[in-house]
Amino acid sequence: MDLLVQKFGGSSLASPARIHAVADLVAQAARTNRVVVVVSAMGDTTDDLIVLARSVTEHPPAREIDMLLATGEQVSASLLSMALHQRGRDAISLTGWQAGIRTSSTFRAARIRDIRPDRIRRELEQGRVVIVTGFQGVVGDGEWDEVTTLGRGGSDATAVALAASLGCLCRIYTDVEGIYSADPRLAPGARRLPTVTYEEMLELAQYGARVMMPRSVELAQIWRVPLEVTSSFTPGAGTSIGGSMEFANRIAGVAHQMDVAKVTLVALMDRPGVAAAVFRALATRHVHADLIVQNIGHEGRTDLSFTVAADDLDIALETIAAVRDEVGARDVTARTGLAKVSVVGSGLFSSLDHAATMFSALSELGVNIDIISTSGIRITCVIDGGHVEEAVRAVHAAFGLEGEDRWQSTA
Ligand code: ADP
Ligand code: ASP
Ligand code: MG
Repeated sequence: MDLLVQKFGGSSLASPARIHAVADLVAQAARTNRVVVVVSAMGDTTDDLIVLARSVTEHPPAREIDMLLATGEQVSASLLSMALHQRGRDAISLTGWQAGIRTSSTFRAARIRDIRPDRIRRELEQGRVVIVTGFQGVVGDGEWDEVTTLGRGGSDATAVALAASLGCLCRIYTDVEGIYSADPRLAPGARRLPTVTYEEMLELAQYGARVMMPRSVELAQIWRVPLEVTSSFTPGAGTSIGGSMEFANRIAGVAHQMDVAKVTLVALMDRPGVAAAVFRALATRHVHADLIVQNIGHEGRTDLSFTVAADDLDIALETIAAVRDEVGARDVTARTGLAKVSVVGSGLFSSLDHAATMFSALSELGVNIDIISTSGIRITCVIDGGHVEEAVRAVHAAFGLEGEDRWQSTA
């Protein structure tokens, strides 16, 4: 019997009826496989718990947030186990701690250090389906342990890490039938991609395709975990993510990210160590800054801009205020309400005209580009957030990505 990790996201488990539907899928897989299931919290539970915490206090301690959020996944894991028992299938739910998922100590953004899957293996040997709460782990020496969570969308990372440690396939069940050439809810012409490479998926995920948590794709790439993404609503079609050279010359898709903010340090000193001081300070506060642009210097001064998630803007500005004198910035400005639109594909690497295709699509809409940033297989434009839908559709069409295998909402 093959071993298989199945992961079900919050949208797949949003109600008792959905828990039963998922139990059917798990029971079916368990007829021919040994199965480890990773679950997210039901529906919007995690968002609701964060709102609940904020209704008690404006600044909840990160440790207590993790204690609170970890409960969401325990609810769905135990309910799914009950639904399997009702079907006559032996199953057991385990917390991240019971499943041996050891993490770093950063609450709300812990990283998986290692997995000791002895308990999981023993339960599998007993013929049980093992259901593991996603998104959580434990840090400590056994005497002074703390519950940690892995960051939003972290159940994907749990699933991939478990598949890596057990040496098996990881199948992610969500509310769309795989990875599409754009978010199908925004671009109705988006096409399902039968395969994507790890590199492409990583860029798509990092630049907003929230269907996979970026860190989980990184884990899959490092450990060469074969990944499949499919729908728990209409199982069947899906996308395989893996190391394929076959599509080395194509454009995979368009990703977008809303709620982007831009910070500019105006006329700061143009000398070694200044950028290091700014970004070290941001890293210390766990602010993820990207799309960093420094302009050509004039008279010993230069402008430095970067983007952050809108949620991180306050803390970014606070951090910059603390180093402003040290780097000699004359002013600090911030702009909110921006968005990123990115086109991703290994074909970008060798092409001469793809950049022009993207910029023309935006200019035909009259959309101004605030920042342009590229990697070997990605071009990103920062634009006004109000134009993101039409921009995604226009860029998607300009690259000829619309196709036969269109998305139809079933969720
Ligand atoms: P889950 O609850 O299963 O974790 P998520 O909401 O995290 O699901 O991710 C699924 C959603 O990701 C889809 O409903 C879709 O709107 C969105 N999405 C964004 N970009 C893409 C893409 N390129 N392909 C598929 N889905 C995408
Ligand atoms: N429940 C967590 C979240 O909403 C983890 C996950 O869904 O993957 O972020
Ligand atoms: Mg998710």
